[in-house]
Amino acid sequence: MDKIDFNVPPYTGKEMDYIKQAVDDKKICGDGSFTKACNQWIEEKTGTKKCLLTTSCTHATEMAALLADIKAGDEVIMPSYTFVSTADAFVLRGATAVFVDIRPDTMNMDETLVEDAVTDRTKAIVPVHYAGVGCEMDEIMEIAKRHDLFVVEDAAQGIMASYKGKALGTFGEFGCFSFHETKNFSMGEGGAILIRDEKYIEDAEIIREKGTDRSKYYRGQVDKYRWQNYGSSYLPSDMNAAYLYAQLELADEITQARMDRWNQYHELLLPLAEAGKIELPFIPAHCTHNAHMFYLKTKDLEERSRLDAFLKEKNILPASHYVPLHSAPAGIKFGRFHGEDKYTTKESERLLRLPMFYKLTADEVEYIAAQVKAFYQ
Ligand SMILES: *Cc1c(COP(=O)(O)O)cnc(C)c1O
Repeated sequence: MDKIDFNVPPYTGKEMDYIKQAVDDKKICGDGSFTKACNQWIEEKTGTKKCLLTTSCTHATEMAALLADIKAGDEVIMPSYTFVSTADAFVLRGATAVFVDIRPDTMNMDETLVEDAVTDRTKAIVPVHYAGVGCEMDEIMEIAKRHDLFVVEDAAQGIMASYKGKALGTFGEFGCFSFHETKNFSMGEGGAILIRDEKYIEDAEIIREKGTDRSKYYRGQVDKYRWQNYGSSYLPSDMNAAYLYAQLELADEITQARMDRWNQYHELLLPLAEAGKIELPFIPAHCTHNAHMFYLKTKDLEERSRLDAFLKEKNILPASHYVPLHSAPAGIKFGRFHGEDKYTTKESERLLRLPMFYKLTADEVEYIAAQVKAFYQ
């Protein structure tokens, strides 16, 4: 078997035509026709009030932190088991990241631990929908309401997934998607911010356009644009949006292909799980996931290292995930763990992600599953 990469960026075939179209239209900067088409597609698909494409999910989260007016001394509650961007966006504004433990079943922030971490400095809760499996949003939204907190969803992995029938990224004031090349749909580097409430749209457009009302100017609502507020440059090139649009058009097909491989992994590895050798991902009945990721859990770190080395020898490239933020140098500097780290470190050390991408074949999954089984024999 040829080498099986951990990830291959999604490519459907139409991307180059669309990029050429953007170039031929002589509109390659931000907010061209492809950016607008992507925004509209996401608004229709998720039912959010407003979507704005951004240069990354990290930047979408930075926008959310600016819109929520996060300031020095504020506290923001989030899991420690997440990508650095979840914390970066808030720490950059001078806030402290307050980490709470995860649930071992979904690897999501444990919603029953959130309220205890709330202080009079808390400004926001940031649930991360790990592997495109929804956090317990009913409980999280309830806590936010009780304490008047913002909810910013890190839905980087969550497009096309839902919780109780509602799209991930549409519960909180702001939701953030990623279109990095490792995500289900990609534009190389890119993301989007979803805005639930109309009242934030104008400020969001201004922050995204260097603090100006250029978006209004483009729509003919003002005759010149001026500096209105602080801001940055968070709009992606329309060439990148063109690449993404080709994939959004085939979103169902891409998701189905991933789901087929995910189900195949699950079926082939289930006997090992039933024999108590490994654990497989858990999807709560009220969550629809998007096959963003397939992982298994070994007994412990030592076993994971051996399985990782074994698979690499067989030309398969698995990946582990997140060194918990609270134990990383910046996490120690900018954050603190509230309560006990019962699962964050332990579960992160057991988790191994198997190759998962749009064009992964059934033969490849069969081969990978066979090698995992061989390891446990
Ligand atoms: C990928 C990812 C991000 C960052 O996305 P970028 O688009 O690369 O900025 C943030 N959070 C999570 C959970 C992610 O998986």
